[in-house]
Amino acid sequence: MEKTAIFSKEYAAQLDQADPIRSYRERFHLPIQPNGETYVYLCGNSLGLQPKSTEKYIQQELEDWKKWGVEGHFHAKNPWMPYHEFLTKKMARVVGAKPIEVVVMNTLSVNLHLLMVSFYRPTPERYKILIESDAFPSDKYAVKSQLKFHGYEADGLIELRPRSGEELLRQEDIDQLIDEQGDQIAMIMLGCPNYYTGQVFDMKHIAEKGHAKGCVVGFDLAHGAGNLKPQLHDSGIDFAAWCTYKYLNSGPGSVGGCFIHERHAHNLDLPRFAGWWGHNKDTRFNMRYDFDPIPGAEGWQLSNPPILSLAAILASLDIFDEVGMDALVAKSKKLTGYLEDLVHEIDDPRINIITPADPQERGCQLSLQVKDADKKLFDAISEKGVIADWREPDVIRIAPAPLYNSFSDVYRFARILREELVESKK
Ligand SMILES: *Cc1c(COP(=O)(O)O)cnc(C)c1O
Repeated sequence: MEKTAIFSKEYAAQLDQADPIRSYRERFHLPIQPNGETYVYLCGNSLGLQPKSTEKYIQQELEDWKKWGVEGHFHAKNPWMPYHEFLTKKMARVVGAKPIEVVVMNTLSVNLHLLMVSFYRPTPERYKILIESDAFPSDKYAVKSQLKFHGYEADGLIELRPRSGEELLRQEDIDQLIDEQGDQIAMIMLGCPNYYTGQVFDMKHIAEKGHAKGCVVGFDLAHGAGNLKPQLHDSGIDFAAWCTYKYLNSGPGSVGGCFIHERHAHNLDLPRFAGWWGHNKDTRFNMRYDFDPIPGAEGWQLSNPPILSLAAILASLDIFDEVGMDALVAKSKKLTGYLEDLVHEIDDPRINIITPADPQERGCQLSLQVKDADKKLFDAISEKGVIADWREPDVIRIAPAPLYNSFSDVYRFARILREELVESKK
């Protein structure tokens, strides 16, 4: 096809026809505009859409609660006592981990703190924390408060900053920093991908580098889980945490996921904050025993989990299990590649894609930097039915989620963007 032909409804429709997993879109509720059309929903990196099956999964638990009361812990169709275990293998497959390394519990910022209790063990010689300068605010608050909690000053935070005039971090600069200052760094904790730029880091490489210098290495996968194939076990990182309401479509504020590498599974020397749900299942209800942690990530649980939230996660994970991350990522590369091509076609100097051009260094999100931080453009496309997200100072984040977004969605977005750019030139 000739170059400009890609910017057409027909071309997008052809790509949809050729998409082997296009039918999954029908399994989701797509928000509808007042005019009856669906919104162009490109915000799955913020809140994923609701699977149509979720209602049934939650309804089941409401029914069993009605029917059984407390006995539902044992007699519900999916007994509540081991309910979190129904999620473990499926979640492990999503993030490329072994079941012993994964647990679904709490929420993301809470889990980051619990993991830092165990993995951020500063000493006067080695107390620093390495993070991206544009890390998600909650992660920054969390690491700064950990420094303070341990009695260290703000100088304990080392921020990885792109070179001046650049938006992305260079691997060689990360390496150099670890080489030079690694002896003082207790913990490296980065977002993969970075929520703002969409840049994916080489976790395995950073783990090797960090470990060689004696640092603990953890990642925040809020934007990675259900988007990338992070291969957490093989990456060798020590820990990770993520939420499930972004790409994993489990509903607002739903429970998060945790990874603790197998090499720590039986280490009873690691300090941790303990609760009864992390205790040996055989003696959990005989409450007189000393804390005897379950080996692996499960041993970090504190409370009995919110079943209604886990039911929504199970509904979602069953879909992920069916489609598989390989098929999702294969589509994702094409879908985001199409978005990139269309933005290049528009070829307007006011729009600059800051996300890496190399598909290996990004997930589905593209971050469009808008010249002069003109938020009017974002407001205008929102008015036309695009749901995306504006991040200060000057970025529109567009995330076509391969599970439910179509090539036609991407086309509709690009057409609206082009119209508004032309309109605002007048
Ligand atoms: C979404 C997100 C959070 C949100 O944390 P919650 O504890 O779930 O509210 C934190 N960190 C990153 C990197 C995120 O993308």
